[in-house]
Amino acid sequence: MDQSLTERLADIVGKANVRLSEPLSLHTTFKIGGPAELFVSPCSVAEVSQVVLACEQAGEPWRVLGCGSDLLVSDEGVDGVVIEVRDNLSSIRVEGSRIVAEAGATNADVAEAARAAGLSGYEFACGIPGTIGGAAIMNAGAYDGEFSQVCVRVTCVTPEGRIVEVPRDETEWSYRHSMFDAARYVVVAATLELSPAPEEDIRARMDELTSKREAKQPIDMPSAGSTFKRPEGYFAAALIDQAGLGGLSVGGAQVSTKHTGFVVNAGDATAADVQSLIAEVQRRVFEDSGVMLEPEVRMWG
Ligand SMILES: Cc1cc2nc3c(=O)[nH]c(=O)nc-3n(C[C@H](O)[C@H](O)[C@H](O)COP(=O)(O)OP(=O)(O)OC[C@H]3O[C@@H](n4cnc5c(N)ncnc54)[C@H](O)[C@@H]3O)c2cc1C
Repeated sequence: MDQSLTERLADIVGKANVRLSEPLSLHTTFKIGGPAELFVSPCSVAEVSQVVLACEQAGEPWRVLGCGSDLLVSDEGVDGVVIEVRDNLSSIRVEGSRIVAEAGATNADVAEAARAAGLSGYEFACGIPGTIGGAAIMNAGAYDGEFSQVCVRVTCVTPEGRIVEVPRDETEWSYRHSMFDAARYVVVAATLELSPAPEEDIRARMDELTSKREAKQPIDMPSAGSTFKRPEGYFAAALIDQAGLGGLSVGGAQVSTKHTGFVVNAGDATAADVQSLIAEVQRRVFEDSGVMLEPEVRMWG
């Protein structure tokens, strides 16, 4: 990478917020991934805008990282700049029945802030281990709730460094999809519209959903959640079960025996192990049921 870009980014975000060759295994819930050539943590929306613009002008590739809970990063790592938003862009503000959260705020913290303010509607997301930015990008959802049901506006930075407000009806949200990827927008904040409700009811619902997750999902093992998207008319885990693939392993990667929809890092798995296992599951499920599973987990590098 051009030394002048490194210096320019350090000028924008401060030297302490720039790291060279940062291992991404430290920033993904899979605990897998080689280094990011340059890893920067902007402290404000204006800094995000300047960082994006500087990368674009230098012709250097850039990507955005939240909690890394939907990512498989290659063992070789990634070239260019990783813009990390979780550390320094995570404020949460309650305004009447609305919550304005910066992109790096975690779903757990936003759900907790909503509960404390007596606002219902975000309980479904309390156990989704990602950020508001990640939830907006893929319309995160669980237990009949979806981000698109409660979010009224998303604030973004465009590749030209402009700050734009995207109202709900322009987001093109559908199952694990939005327009932000294709537009190469960085999500920097989102506004949620919630409903007043007794705090104890909200707490009870969050507790109920947390218990369900603990009972059904291997949350004690590193993973990136559901490995595959839900194929139309089927459930990925049911197809994997039916093909008898629970416990199937490649190296340190394993199809969870607790929930076959999850590939877990059972110990020192590499990205190559996970990729081979995903391909093998796809092959065997297709052989068994004729359904081709599509990864939900995103691949970097
Ligand atoms: C145990 C477990 C359980 C899970 N359960 C669920 C579930 O119930 N429902 C569900 O929907 N998901 C679930 N997930 C998957 C994951 O938590 C969600 O998809 C989450 O929304 C990802 O957010 P993140 O901040 O971790 O994004 P990351 O993994 O960091 O990034 C994912 C993608 O979004 C992009 N991105 C992230 N932030 C931004 C931003 N601010 N601007 C632009 N692009 C951005 C990244 O570039 C990348 O392409 C689970 C994962 C785990 C590990």
